Amino acid sequence: MYQTLSHPPVSFDQYLPLISSELANDLAAVAADLRDLRVVHLNSTATGGGVAEILQSMVPFMNALGITTERVVINPPPRFFQVSKRIHNLLQGANGELTPEELKIYFRSIRDVASAIKDHNLTADVWYLHDPQLLPLAQLLPRDPEAAWFWLIHIDLTAPNPQVLESLLPLTQAYDRLVFSLDSYVPSQLNGATPVYIAPPAIDPLSVKNMPMEEPEAARLVAAMGIDPARPLVTQVSRFDLWKDPCGVVDAYRLARQEVPGLQLALLGLSQASDDPEALDVLASVEEHAAQDPDIHLYFSPAGLPDSIDIVVNAFQTASQVVVQKSIREGFGLTVTEAMWKGKAVIGGNVGGIRLQIQDGVSGYLVDTSEECAWRIVELMQDPGLRDRIGQKARESVRENYLLPRLALDYLKVAKSRLSDAAESNDHQSDVLPGVEIPDPLAKPAGRRNARSNGRAASKVRVTRSSSRT
Ligand code: UDP
Repeated sequence: MYQTLSHPPVSFDQYLPLISSELANDLAAVAADLRDLRVVHLNSTATGGGVAEILQSMVPFMNALGITTERVVINPPPRFFQVSKRIHNLLQGANGELTPEELKIYFRSIRDVASAIKDHNLTADVWYLHDPQLLPLAQLLPRDPEAAWFWLIHIDLTAPNPQVLESLLPLTQAYDRLVFSLDSYVPSQLNGATPVYIAPPAIDPLSVKNMPMEEPEAARLVAAMGIDPARPLVTQVSRFDLWKDPCGVVDAYRLARQEVPGLQLALLGLSQASDDPEALDVLASVEEHAAQDPDIHLYFSPAGLPDSIDIVVNAFQTASQVVVQKSIREGFGLTVTEAMWKGKAVIGGNVGGIRLQIQDGVSGYLVDTSEECAWRIVELMQDPGLRDRIGQKARESVRENYLLPRLALDYLKVAKSRLSDAAESNDHQSDVLPGVEIPDPLAKPAGRRNARSNGRAASKVRVTRSSSRT
């Protein structure tokens, strides 16, 4: 039900030229304090999506700091991912409800993960559990009062489906700290019951995806994938997901092409997350929308690529004059950070983490509609000087704010705060939301008894049914 992944080691020194001496000193100090700890990061997919991207760099980086850190990924059955994607969509604001059957799949799958962890005696001093997929786990494992449990949620909680949020929030009580990407995502219902930290994600500047690539090499690679490097190119790199608004990007491209002759569009969804079962349907709708325009290039299959997915993403981000991330919800948007780091002018949807990253008109553009997006594409395509100025600001902003060492410091500070707070550690069970019980969906007979006796277990998970955009 789970597997441990290994990642090639890195050295802390390699990062020093890219970060301030203050950050380097802070990291060294906190790492020295936490050196004897064993840390586990748990998430639901080995590759694909932003969390996998972060962890494949974060885990080696923490090891490089001298903190023994393991990366563990769960292996639940595919139907679990159908449910967890529904939960993801509902928390990002989709209408709908979770059926009792879906909830059963969700909790049973995580119960099986918990059993496997107990059977294999996987232990740690600090557990970082990422995203709603893992949320029920903390309450299912034996409590070592010395151990620290953190839940990190990376999705856009600007306007969550209120009933679903309410039904899941009690599960957060099993954690010592909660970590959100933006301040504005913290649900008001939490009421300060569990300490909350804000840690916006970050990219690894030393990954092959983010290392500088020479323009001729980028041109060679995109040409190998059917792009004419002599003509203008706009790219969106994203899983095929409705929240990323791929059809809206196609609309923007069509409008912009009227002013930018020969414009090409690339939509890259090569690295689908194994926990995202909706991609094929979304791809089909984008294909239909693209209507066989030979200058719209949709990339989905990783078969036959001229190089690794990461290199190909790097090539497209490097070779494009303009990069778009026209999301309608976005927890953070590492693709925005990656392109900004490459000195690109990014046009992003005016939502969530994109709004945090892009200062409109200074380090990129924020847009609300396809028309606005088209207008910005045209403006940038016609003005190389503007692209350069914005791209420079973009790179500087990423250097200051969104590189991996800063995120590592944030994560380690959360651990340090918890571990130096012994009283809170021993008093964990008192950290509950007033008047709310932690749901016990796993104790089958008791759960049924509870549902019958007071209706609370059932009512916590029901939400209003209505048509769902997702
Ligand atoms: N990604 C990739 N290949 C693709 C599409 C996406 O490697 O074809 C990567 C992308 O470079 C980024 C991550 O997947 O590192 C997506 O993270 P983001 O935060 O933008 O969105 P999420 O998928 O987590 O919603």
